[in-house]
Amino acid sequence: MRNYNAILNIDKKKNLVTCQAGCTLDKLNQRLKSEKFGLRVLGSISHQTVAGAICTPTHGTGIQYGILATEVVHIQFVNGNCDVIECSEIENQNIFKACLCSFGSLGIITEITMRVEPLKTLVSLQFPLKLRQVEENLTRIIYGAEHSRIWWFPHTDKCSIWQANKLEFNASDIEKSGLNSQISCGKKKFSNFILESVLYLSTIVPSVTPYVNKVSHKVLFGKVVQSQDVSFKEFNIDCLFKQYVNEWAIPIEHALEALSLLQLLITEHNINANWPVEVRFVRNDDIWLSPCYGESDRCFIGIIMYRPYSREPKYLLYFKKFDEMMSSLGGRPHWAKAHGWKYKECKESYPMWEEFCKLRSKMDPKNVFMNEYTRSIFNP
Ligand SMILES: Cc1cc2nc3c(=O)[nH]c(=O)nc-3n(C[C@H](O)[C@H](O)[C@H](O)COP(=O)(O)OP(=O)(O)OC[C@H]3O[C@@H](n4cnc5c(N)ncnc54)[C@H](O)[C@@H]3O)c2cc1C
Repeated sequence: MRNYNAILNIDKKKNLVTCQAGCTLDKLNQRLKSEKFGLRVLGSISHQTVAGAICTPTHGTGIQYGILATEVVHIQFVNGNCDVIECSEIENQNIFKACLCSFGSLGIITEITMRVEPLKTLVSLQFPLKLRQVEENLTRIIYGAEHSRIWWFPHTDKCSIWQANKLEFNASDIEKSGLNSQISCGKKKFSNFILESVLYLSTIVPSVTPYVNKVSHKVLFGKVVQSQDVSFKEFNIDCLFKQYVNEWAIPIEHALEALSLLQLLITEHNINANWPVEVRFVRNDDIWLSPCYGESDRCFIGIIMYRPYSREPKYLLYFKKFDEMMSSLGGRPHWAKAHGWKYKECKESYPMWEEFCKLRSKMDPKNVFMNEYTRSIFNP
């Protein structure tokens, strides 16, 4: 679908963009910028196709903002019977709510219409904080800015907070502020090289992990950094190195408990967690298979392990215990990340799961769009 990527229409009166499914978020960001528009929320990268991002619950952070799929107002797809289905909030509403986060299991999405907003500047502040201070001020961190993210470095009490708010876009203000390129490219490459070297070392000698995390914190997040740029550039970050990631969404009221339990889990099981834990906040929604479905806003917690070249780090126990811990807190896994759930767990957690499976059978009676993974979660 990557070649099926045209941007078909930008409706400037209704603040909507329509594109073909294989258009990347990168391409959309650039084109929207040239028309003085932007997406309202984005995750850490924009390499994804629009369809891939909405079919998984790709999300950014900001308690007023839902997952990216909540920005979609209309979808066209071809189901397993070769019917072209149009669906939206008004037309085929159930199909729409099912299709938005369906990992391609209802059919091939061909066109998507999403909300956009007039182009914004995002003004952000990143600052170090102790874990205890994060715990004491969690509500202020979540609600104190439009967009907030926490990084916690396991085996240490060190965190970094990123908070950002939007302003009307003004290119000359950004230029005058001089805050859009904090670190020169050469310097960045050098610090990344040092960082990757110590991370690699931690996979051979796991006992150095706490020291590595202290170094990582210092290199990446030790200083207060102010920044401002066009919104997509501020939302996106450099994910630096290859990683294994496991991320879950829990009801926001369990966020503090989850942070304490995660500290215990790492200590009790002697886990060498060599990459920071990422904590983000997302509004609830009514998309059938969205991890944010239901009454509660959600806190996404992602655990990450550095993935060295030519070696497998030990991460399976960490991920398994994290699955158990997050399940016990009413969590649901991010569909694009590693998790161990099967049909039973999915059905128990998602009120619309069986309804989805029935609809799926109608849309794809010959199971054209099923594979080993979808069979494991959709078949009893
Ligand atoms: C470095 C990195 C950073 C990331 N950061 C974030 C983040 O900040 N927040 C977050 O939530 N996620 C994040 N992700 C996850 C990422 O957003 C998802 O994996 C996303 O699905 C990838 O998009 P893709 O275009 O590669 O889709 P693919 O991986 O190709 O597809 C994803 C799913 O969508 C389905 N699909 C794709 N196209 C269509 C179509 N046309 N019709 C029907 N179904 C389709 C596929 O069948 C598949 O099930 C990150 C991933 C990486 C690698």
